[in-house]
Amino acid sequence: MKLALDGKVAIVTGAGSGIGRAMALAMAEAGAAVAVVGRTLAKVEAVAGEIVASGGQALPVQADVSHSADVQAAVDATTATYGGIDILVNNAGISPSGRVTDITPAEWDECMAVDLRSVFLGARAAIPVMQVRGGGVILSTAGTFGLRAASNKAAYSTAKAGVINLTRAIALDYGPDQIRCNVICPGYVDTPLTAGVPPADRDRFLAATQPLPSVIQAPDVAALAVYLASDAARMITGQVFVIDGGQQAGLYQP
Ligand code: NAP
Repeated sequence: MKLALDGKVAIVTGAGSGIGRAMALAMAEAGAAVAVVGRTLAKVEAVAGEIVASGGQALPVQADVSHSADVQAAVDATTATYGGIDILVNNAGISPSGRVTDITPAEWDECMAVDLRSVFLGARAAIPVMQVRGGGVILSTAGTFGLRAASNKAAYSTAKAGVINLTRAIALDYGPDQIRCNVICPGYVDTPLTAGVPPADRDRFLAATQPLPSVIQAPDVAALAVYLASDAARMITGQVFVIDGGQQAGLYQP
């Protein structure tokens, strides 16, 4: 079965790098017109340029996903350019470290705003457009730390857990409008976010926790997103999709 997004319009946030870039490229390759949204204009312009150079359609949009006006403007620009929205991917995120006694209230608030409030803002802006269109798909990138908290990641683990239950709430509330909402929980993925981890530390961590021996790459996550965004997944909503090389399967004792 070929997974096709022909004729669909997608918004991908955090699309200037890492998982979001891979999702934008994969959705464009599957036939979607893609609004490439991110904080740094040069990065989203570069990804949009890659899509156009490959024969696809892309609109670079600079936006801070924690700001309501920016998110609304991104949705409006996409709708004005492509006539509607079929797919919203809330992928932008930051991953601050620290225990509750280490981080400031401002750092807590920033993590909640970028990682969780952004999902609320994106859905809030895109759902009315999807309702007019007769349906749509909302995906978010949470993470396995949203399923089981990680030490020294108090704010991040909390925000990602919130994304998981917000996904379920949206699925329940807007299923009758033919809007599906699912969440992807990656494990450790090689991206700019994890680039600061020394390779030896990464390899030691993965050898101790992940049964599958390869390191997850951004296109692995993008392939799952294309499937969930496609009509092949038309009856799947309110679900959590883990892509972690087997880390969450149980107690791994190599
Ligand atoms: P990444 O390459 O750092 O991508 C994150 C993107 O989000 C960047 O392009 C960044 O733009 C953008 N962004 C950050 N804050 C933003 C804001 N306020 N407004 C708009 N855009 C913003 O890292 P990644 O690994 O691909 O992360 C993508 C998502 O996957 C995140 O939600 C992350 O939590 C999640 N995740 C990653 C892993 C992993 O191991 N890599 C595991 C689980 C979950 P700028 O570069 O311009 O700041």
